[in-house]
Amino acid sequence: MVENPVPWPNGPRCAVGFSRDVDADSVLHLAHPDDADTRVTTMTDLRFGPEVAIARICGLFESYDIRQTFFVPAWCIEEHPKAIARMVEGGHEIGHHGYMHERPNTFTAERERYWTELSSAIIERACGRRPRGHRAPWAAYSKYTTTILADLGFLYDSSLMGEDVPYVLRDRGGRELIELPLQAAMDDWSHYVQNVDLDYMMAIEAPERAKEAFLAEFEAAWTYRTFWQGT
Ligand SMILES: [Zn+2]
Repeated sequence: MVENPVPWPNGPRCAVGFSRDVDADSVLHLAHPDDADTRVTTMTDLRFGPEVAIARICGLFESYDIRQTFFVPAWCIEEHPKAIARMVEGGHEIGHHGYMHERPNTFTAERERYWTELSSAIIERACGRRPRGHRAPWAAYSKYTTTILADLGFLYDSSLMGEDVPYVLRDRGGRELIELPLQAAMDDWSHYVQNVDLDYMMAIEAPERAKEAFLAEFEAAWTYRTFWQGT
């Protein structure tokens, strides 16, 4: 069925990646810039990630000797330094995820480049190395993004949905990035977000429903030797 099976290095049937988008309270400030500080319950909900969950997730995956990639808006890196330090301490990767979870595809090329450079510098200051991976906030990849990422020396992006195996992106100058594609069913946001202030009201379901979707996708990746990426 899959015409282009990937010859994964060392011969496993499929590849698995664990990535997380740590948007935290950036999205509340983006949605309600004038009164985010009055929406206290949502603020606590969104800060649960960096203040509580990150340490648990890092510890759990480290107990299996698995490293993850955290895509973090640069504003969140400055707001939640303890969570970032915990990721770095565990050897996990910090990827680029915008500055304030803005939508890059609503920007001019110059404005997108400015925020991409600034956020890369903030990541480098926090982790001691420049980011190699990028995920566009809201998956709002723009027509300029490939060129900007190539200019800044990124190796890969993970925002697009054009394949179920990694594939190559090229800018007009022929420079290449690897794309690690997404799939909404493997995103915990799609299964769990229930918040009036963000206007996302997914039906509340038992975690078994999300697990069922994640496992079904893994079975398919295993059968067809493709790529499973949790987001
Ligand atoms: Zn995000």
